[in-house]
Amino acid sequence: MRFTTTTPGSDPSAVLYNRCTVYLGDGTITMEEIPCRNLEEVLGGFGRSFQMLATRPVQQAYTPENPLILNTGLLTGSNVMTGLRSYFSAYSPLKQSHKGLPAAMWSAASGKFGSKLKWTGIDEVVFEGRAEEPVYAVFRAGANGPEAELKPAGHLLGLSSHDKIMALQKEYPEAHFAAIGPAGERYQQVLMGAVALSTENQLKSGEDKCRFAGRGGMGSMMGYKNLIAIVAQSEDRFPPIAAEMRDVNRDVVKGGGSNRFQPLTQGGGGGTWANLEVLDVFKAVPENNFRSIAGRRIEGLYRDSVEKSLHVRSEACFRCGVRCHNNLYRKNEDGSAGEFIAKFDFEPLNLFGTNLGIHDGEQVAELIRLCDNLAMDAISLGTTIAYVLDYNARHPEDTILNGATFGDYDKVRELVLATGNGSCDLIGHGVQRLSRRLGETGYAMQVKGLELPAYLPETNPGYAFAIAGGHMSMGTHMMVAREGKVGMNDWVNAITQQGLLQVGYDMIGLCKFVGIGLGHDFVVRAVKAATGLEVTSEEIVAAVRRAYLRGLALELRQGYQDDEYTLPQQVFSDPNPNITLPRFVTQEFLDEMKKRVWNAFEPEMAGLFA
Ligand code: SF4
Repeated sequence: MRFTTTTPGSDPSAVLYNRCTVYLGDGTITMEEIPCRNLEEVLGGFGRSFQMLATRPVQQAYTPENPLILNTGLLTGSNVMTGLRSYFSAYSPLKQSHKGLPAAMWSAASGKFGSKLKWTGIDEVVFEGRAEEPVYAVFRAGANGPEAELKPAGHLLGLSSHDKIMALQKEYPEAHFAAIGPAGERYQQVLMGAVALSTENQLKSGEDKCRFAGRGGMGSMMGYKNLIAIVAQSEDRFPPIAAEMRDVNRDVVKGGGSNRFQPLTQGGGGGTWANLEVLDVFKAVPENNFRSIAGRRIEGLYRDSVEKSLHVRSEACFRCGVRCHNNLYRKNEDGSAGEFIAKFDFEPLNLFGTNLGIHDGEQVAELIRLCDNLAMDAISLGTTIAYVLDYNARHPEDTILNGATFGDYDKVRELVLATGNGSCDLIGHGVQRLSRRLGETGYAMQVKGLELPAYLPETNPGYAFAIAGGHMSMGTHMMVAREGKVGMNDWVNAITQQGLLQVGYDMIGLCKFVGIGLGHDFVVRAVKAATGLEVTSEEIVAAVRRAYLRGLALELRQGYQDDEYTLPQQVFSDPNPNITLPRFVTQEFLDEMKKRVWNAFEPEMAGLFA
């Protein structure tokens, strides 16, 4: 990016970004420098990509007119801790309205790929059209600016996401990688394909430690485009760390917001894994397809239990002091780490564990490993399989697929493999399509076509207003468990004020695990320390709000009706009796809440696409 102002809030067009457009159909590649139209474009990520998507009248995801946009945020590749994010945006093959139109989506991941892309001199790549043959794209920092080319990718086909990355690493020193797995290659059968991004730890150790842009099937979009992998090659380009930057980074680690994601040995909460025990206090851990069955066996996945047979190590993305990853290794006889198995964080451990009735740490780790290797979204896959198990439990005489039901590890493993290898589109197409086909939608745990993360819908009516994933684009998923808030005003305010700011992290290039609201002074100081730009907290909040509302308006444009802004019907018709949190989400509560939220949002949505 190039700055010819220090105050982009009042003069955004004085900030310019480099866009590379790759026309996959004929291999043409163009580079251009583009002035930002507003502060959302300066911040980057989906704040920029959704403005492009809004100009495309796309009726189905798998069409050459649907661009795949890869970009970074203002602070990606900077010295600000966690500034590593990459974003993939497109009309989603998975998330769609009842009218059958695809929703605009983005998906984000850490790792070091985003920083490397930034250091090539490219801020955004737009992949247009579709390649005739499988290709991978290479972006590199050249002597006269960024360079790009497409190369044949036939030799990568069929490899796991990790093996693709390791194969490319042999050819491209100083590079980082984004790759799809076998699931993305079977994009017709699997709409939930993820993009795997390489980490420094992975490239050094050779162990399968990717991070994933999972939500919304961006890996399947890459597969449709015959784009198998992306290489970003550049030497590291960190400026010297000034005193202000040291202060900013000290606040990330010591400021308190990230504390619960930090390792136990650092005095933190031990990563998102800790949520398991927090929610279990209220019997609010999803079990057997988002029920709580009083948690008799959940303790098997508590950290203490898992550590009896496996070695757990806190690790991190490049230079990140939050160290939120819990990586699981087999245990050597002396207790030290043996072979690496998988990451163990709240969503996958819950959605492949308690929510499937599986409580053995090694079994859950194996399912996560397979999901990652095949490169699927763990949330969409785990939640859709839970529905299959629930359906089979409800129809013992008339089961589907292999008849698997809760706790049947071997059969669940079969389903994961079959889905990722493209031979089970009933699961690969996600739970909304499956439940509609079977005529039993009430216990399909999805909202607006996207599977729910591992927080019970009885505790979060905010899901209805998440625009790109239940907990990543509306920050209300722990509100009842942490704050006990159940009043109407509390919820309307949470959704229309602080909750929507969650998406700002998917613009600016930082990780949500910084744990601080986007309007916080920390973000203002981080922007100033990294770029010299002076942006006020109010300007950032206003830009994030506009970007969120643009996303909501795009949903409406893609055919979403008011009755799709709801929760799974079971929440109202058969609420979970075991949860000990206050029961407040009735149909009447949701209807009133929605009315008030729309009243707040609708006047601001008018004219956002002008
Ligand atoms: S907070 Fe976690 S995911 Fe984010 S950059 Fe740090 S280690 Fe990576």
